[in-house]
Amino acid sequence: MSLESWNVYFSVNISSSTFDQCILLCCGKVVAQHNWESQASGLPEYIKIVEVGPRDGLQNEKVIVPTDTKIELINRLSKTGLPAIEVTSFVSSKWVPQMADHKEVMRGIERHPGVQYPVLTPNLKGFHSAIAAGATEVSVFGAASESFSKMNINCSIEESIEKFEEVAKSARNMNIPVRGYVSCALGCPYEGDITPAKVAEVSKRLYSMGCYEISLGDTIGVGTPGSMKRMLEAVMKEIPLSALAVHCHDTYGQALANILTAIQMGVAVVDSSVAGLGGCPYAKGATGNVATEDVIYMLNGLGINTGVNLYTVMEAGNFICTALNKKTNSKVAQASFNTGTIK
Ligand SMILES: [Zn+2]
Repeated sequence: MSLESWNVYFSVNISSSTFDQCILLCCGKVVAQHNWESQASGLPEYIKIVEVGPRDGLQNEKVIVPTDTKIELINRLSKTGLPAIEVTSFVSSKWVPQMADHKEVMRGIERHPGVQYPVLTPNLKGFHSAIAAGATEVSVFGAASESFSKMNINCSIEESIEKFEEVAKSARNMNIPVRGYVSCALGCPYEGDITPAKVAEVSKRLYSMGCYEISLGDTIGVGTPGSMKRMLEAVMKEIPLSALAVHCHDTYGQALANILTAIQMGVAVVDSSVAGLGGCPYAKGATGNVATEDVIYMLNGLGINTGVNLYTVMEAGNFICTALNKKTNSKVAQASFNTGTIK
């Protein structure tokens, strides 16, 4: 079915942008009912979605996406209610050619009030370029695996922490918030299992240097609800729950289950990527982040507020998939746009 006819269907059947009290009908069957059960179940009432598609997603697509297309994608995402959109990465274009236009993208986007636009800054040089281009929030990207750190950012964990400390110090002086990533939190393509203690140790270092939020990344998507629970239990002993986020890839089809496990444990920030864009160049076979559309659909079903309009995210996903000439990785978008079952 076409996007337009879906639009008509959607506006008739779902009048509220926050989906409250609504029932989504598909082929006459009730597929999602919203009853605000979260208040009774102990789940967080609000989950903050951090959209990482324009950076984490497009960085790992094979084609280099034109700057205008990136800007258009971010502008569309800004209108969906998403509270945070990771825009680009201020890394050397020698390492990541897909992000070589970081300054142009940063300067070209429309900034909506209430939306954060963090950018990745691996070192002080990247940090200063990002600030010069107008960044008001930055992220540093560490790893819980020594081998992955060497392959991904070309230095040991300790060396990377030293660079991040420089960034954090400068950011503090300028009142710029810093978000910290810990990649390979549930497994490494080179080392296999990563101990929860190691994840907790690296997370603590990042939190202690001033990162306001630590995003725990299952970079290669090998985690399960069991390993997620064990890892979070270790990290939660060191860091307040309110400062934790999860970042799940769907390589083994476990991302939504892992996210559900995390939110049942009280984590209230979830990273996701529109249309499930992305992958990981250093982790062969890793698919993209969990799709934003699928996360929102699940959270809507749980009665958890995100403030994000699912339909407009699907439209943004449709836009970027058309531009990339690829099929969406979002199951929700596939079911809604491609099956033709909704008449
Ligand atoms: Zn990712």
